[in-house]
Amino acid sequence: MIGDRRSGKFVTPGEKLGVIEEFVPGSGTYVEDGSIYSLVTGHLILDTAKREISIHSNVRPASLPKSGDTVVGQAINVQDRNLVLKISQINNRVSSSLNGVMHVSDVSRNYIKTMFDAFKSGDLIRAKVISTANREFHLTTIDDNLGVVEAFCSQCGHSLIFQKNQLRCPRCKRIERRKIASDYEMSVA
Ligand SMILES: [Zn+2]
Repeated sequence: MIGDRRSGKFVTPGEKLGVIEEFVPGSGTYVEDGSIYSLVTGHLILDTAKREISIHSNVRPASLPKSGDTVVGQAINVQDRNLVLKISQINNRVSSSLNGVMHVSDVSRNYIKTMFDAFKSGDLIRAKVISTANREFHLTTIDDNLGVVEAFCSQCGHSLIFQKNQLRCPRCKRIERRKIASDYEMSVA
C-alpha cells in the first residue's frame, strides 16, 4: 500500500518539524540534536507509510549554487552543531533567497567545539559549497578567505571591528570570537 502524502502547512527554514524517533528526515530537512528542522521554504509533506517528513519547495531559484561556488549570506539559525545560512550571493552575483547548511566540522582546520565559538546569528558569512546532494547546499569555511565578513556585537548590535587580533565592539568594548575571513577589516571598512 502506498502511503498517503499529506501536504501540510507552509514552513520557513529553521522551523522544528518533529523528532527522529517519530519521523524520517526527507529532502529539504536537516537534523539537529534528534529534532528535524526545515532547511528550505515550502510546504511540509508527510509520507504516512514511510513516516517521512520532507519539504516541497515551490521556490525555484533561477540559478542554484554548484560545488566549488563561493556564496555569501546571513547566519539565520546557529545551533551547537549546525547553522543555516540565508544565501544572498553566489559568486558575487545576487541570488534569490535560498538556504545552505554548515556543520561544525566544516568551519575551520582547527577544532571547533561548538558553532557558537565561531558564528552568531546575524553574521554575514562567506562560504564555499561542498555538496549539493538532494538540493541541500552544504557549506564550508575552511580556508583563509572564508568565514565572517561582517559580525555584530551580541550585546549592542554594533558592527565589530578587527583590531590587534581581536574582534571588538567600538561602542561597548565587548570582545567576541568568530571564524573570520582574512579580509574582514577591508570588508567592514
Ligand atoms: Zn557592543
